[in-house]
Amino acid sequence: MSTTRRFLPVFHDVLGARVLVIGAGAVGARKIEALLAGGARVTVVAKEFSPAVEERAARGDLTALRGTFHPDQMREAELVFVATPDRGLNRRVSAEARRRRIPVNVADAPEECTFLLPAVVRGDDFTAAISTGGKNPGAAKALREFLEDHRTEISVRMERGRRRKRIAARSGKVYIVGAGPGDPDLLTVRALGLLRSADAVIYDYLVPMEILSLAPVKAARICFARRGRTAGHGAVLKQNAIHEAMVRLAREGKSVVRLKSGDPLVFGRGGEEAEHLSREGIPFEIVPGITAAMGCAAAAVLPLTHRDTSSSVTFVAGHETDGKGKSTVEWSLLPKDGTLAVYMGVGRVAAIAEELAGAGFSPDTPFAIVENGSRPEQRVVRGILSDLPRIPEEYDVRSPAILFVGRTAALLPCENTEERSDEPVAQGV
Ligand code: SAH
Repeated sequence: MSTTRRFLPVFHDVLGARVLVIGAGAVGARKIEALLAGGARVTVVAKEFSPAVEERAARGDLTALRGTFHPDQMREAELVFVATPDRGLNRRVSAEARRRRIPVNVADAPEECTFLLPAVVRGDDFTAAISTGGKNPGAAKALREFLEDHRTEISVRMERGRRRKRIAARSGKVYIVGAGPGDPDLLTVRALGLLRSADAVIYDYLVPMEILSLAPVKAARICFARRGRTAGHGAVLKQNAIHEAMVRLAREGKSVVRLKSGDPLVFGRGGEEAEHLSREGIPFEIVPGITAAMGCAAAAVLPLTHRDTSSSVTFVAGHETDGKGKSTVEWSLLPKDGTLAVYMGVGRVAAIAEELAGAGFSPDTPFAIVENGSRPEQRVVRGILSDLPRIPEEYDVRSPAILFVGRTAALLPCENTEERSDEPVAQGV
């Protein structure tokens, strides 16, 4: 009979139960704490008490018997724990407990135990217990750590389970989640957990397949893309349709992940979506992501702020124009001694260069364009503002790309940069 089969996993109610613990060192103390947390009435027998147990005894949380073990101490016990360094004593206590048919656990000696203590993971509403029948506590610990790493996912799945139980229609929830600049390793732990347990994913055209593939195979996938920009991503929805889809799926009780590139609240319309959900009374949560400026700055080793050269960083939308095709950004108000991170600007780099010049930015202000930041095809092009207008064509810069302007753009050229010259330099990083 295998040891793992022999031990029936049960959860024992210790509230008000009399429990005898022999030994009050570090191991005994851990068991005592767990027992007290469960409301047990604990009696501890030991020659010496660790400070933690001493403190508990002084507070009257347990009965402390200083001295040696005597079988009479077991008279009213419902459970016995033994954790002393004296193996002979441990064995004697175990034999006595078994004779009296009292369940007994001896630390680090599964063969002396009639019950084992599993490795435990506790969440808000659950307890998971893992046992290897006492044979491989290291493996049990590794499994426990695995479950701990997946706590978010577990809690989302539990929420889903709760909904299953109450058959009455109950609203699901929408998670407006930032996916970061593209590298799946740059997702937050929370984003990963939510994605893995999503019922439906509504995503932006900039979110790569490597990230989408983290969602369950059976999760519905719906793409939002501006018309004409993206192909092959399934159904293409406009903003209103996204609002409707989020509400409908949540009302079906689903866990909906609204996945956006970067951070949902930076040029991502996350605010509008949150407003809509709030108007419709749908529960939602916003999960931040690494915005393109941060992800691309790190990838290009470009300090957004720097003690000597930049005391501010400004996120600017480069594409925003009024009816006459002019930028709505007041470029002259932007700090010239900081770093500008211009999103959505590649399509009108020449115009932006002109606007910056008109706003008083010096023609020799450095810039860096990071294309596909954090993705395998990442490229960085550096130069100075006077060169900027001819860059997109010369280097065939494509979306997604971000433009950094400021002295920080030339501070730390990436490794394998060619000697800086008047010519802009393209780097494969
Ligand atoms: N919410 C996103 C921004 C969406 S707007 C965020 O916080 O990052 C889309 C713009 O983001 C693109 O036009 C581009 O300027 C920038 N961008 C997004 N991902 C990028 C990437 N991997 N590399 C370079 N720029 C990126």
